[in-house]
Amino acid sequence: MTTYLIKGASILGGEPTDLLIADGVIKSIGSQASTGLDRRSSPVETIDAAGLIALPGLVDLHTHLREPGREDAETVETGTQAAALGGFTAVHAMANTDPVADTAGVVEQVWRLGREAGYADVFPVGAVTVGLAGERLAELGAMADSAARVRVFSDDGKCVADPVLMRRALEYVKAFDGVIAQHAQEPRLTEDAQMNEGELSGRLGLRGWPAVAEEAIIARDCLLAQHVKSRLHVCHVSTAGSVEIVRWAKARAEAEGGWTVTAEVCPHHLLLTDELAATYDPIYKVNPPLRTATDVEAVRQGLADGVLDIVATDHAPHPHEDKDCEWQAAAFGMLGLETALSIVQATMVDAGLLDWAGVAERMSYAPARIGRLDNHGRPIAEGEPANIVLYDAAATRVIEASAMSSLSRNTPYAGRELPGQVVATFLRGKATVLDGKLA
Ligand SMILES: [Zn+2]
Repeated sequence: MTTYLIKGASILGGEPTDLLIADGVIKSIGSQASTGLDRRSSPVETIDAAGLIALPGLVDLHTHLREPGREDAETVETGTQAAALGGFTAVHAMANTDPVADTAGVVEQVWRLGREAGYADVFPVGAVTVGLAGERLAELGAMADSAARVRVFSDDGKCVADPVLMRRALEYVKAFDGVIAQHAQEPRLTEDAQMNEGELSGRLGLRGWPAVAEEAIIARDCLLAQHVKSRLHVCHVSTAGSVEIVRWAKARAEAEGGWTVTAEVCPHHLLLTDELAATYDPIYKVNPPLRTATDVEAVRQGLADGVLDIVATDHAPHPHEDKDCEWQAAAFGMLGLETALSIVQATMVDAGLLDWAGVAERMSYAPARIGRLDNHGRPIAEGEPANIVLYDAAATRVIEASAMSSLSRNTPYAGRELPGQVVATFLRGKATVLDGKLA
């Protein structure tokens, strides 16, 4: 295994220093990091990291890897390659595959595929209900006990709309410290919904998706989590009202103890608005939909003040034919892994709302805590697993869909200039990305 001497990296934006990575861990940090190198027999590679920021390997709580079933859109291998290029060392793979990840067998298959590919650790999310059908609970305990050690459960793509099922799921996962990650979408209020409901949806003739369809489910689920004293995670918060509900619930949970609510926001909801629907370009069609500039401002503030705990990509690859059609017929979703850190830099860091320590908290430490991961989301310190990303925040790049590592091309940022470039990613001391390319 190669030993790496990283010279002059700035940990979380601090003073430049050296890091020695060997045997999968951070051996030493500081100007004396290279002492003792000559006694080592393994090959040593020196990386000039002057001007680069060192962050802990990013952790995504919300990725769609599409395997098994839609290997034309993405595979575990291509999806984790995209993850590594985006600075991620761990991803949670959502359960809406074919077959659905609702048994120990399927989650173990996805977990093994991730290990074989070796680009990022894959932690399967288990389905809450059998076949995502919303009728009866899946084998949550068997998935938790499996080799994949599932702790996050979600019917993402669909909402667990039945309050009795949601209550039972929240009760059930307490036995193994699991969490229910809810895709908050009241189904009756969003039948055939196409974009954010407002003056613009009326003008464009597209069926509206009201904010209340998200907010009502979040409010209900917070109350259920409180009632049964469990752990709720709210996926992809997109409205100002949702931020206020989560803020209220967190204050209550903190005062009472015994239950928790955490929440995520996606990069696209930090940057893009519903105005883009006026192009009728389905590249901007996503679930939940792009919202108003007021909502974008609210989720940015929510992420800055910690009401929204994490950034999660909701990386949703779709093949060309599912996006290159009329808006109404197109699939929901957009790529996210390879651009997430740049979007967070543009919308939060460069805007003065977060520093790099805040980025590490929201894109590494906190998602690892929510997913109950032991060896990810750890600080960059001696003896810790060497999961590290080296990031050039001063770089700029113009996004090209054809240059994406993902099998799919549905990025909404094609042609945009974004700040930042992932230069290197290390997974347990092994380089998955070097010089901005797969190692
Ligand atoms: Zn979702």
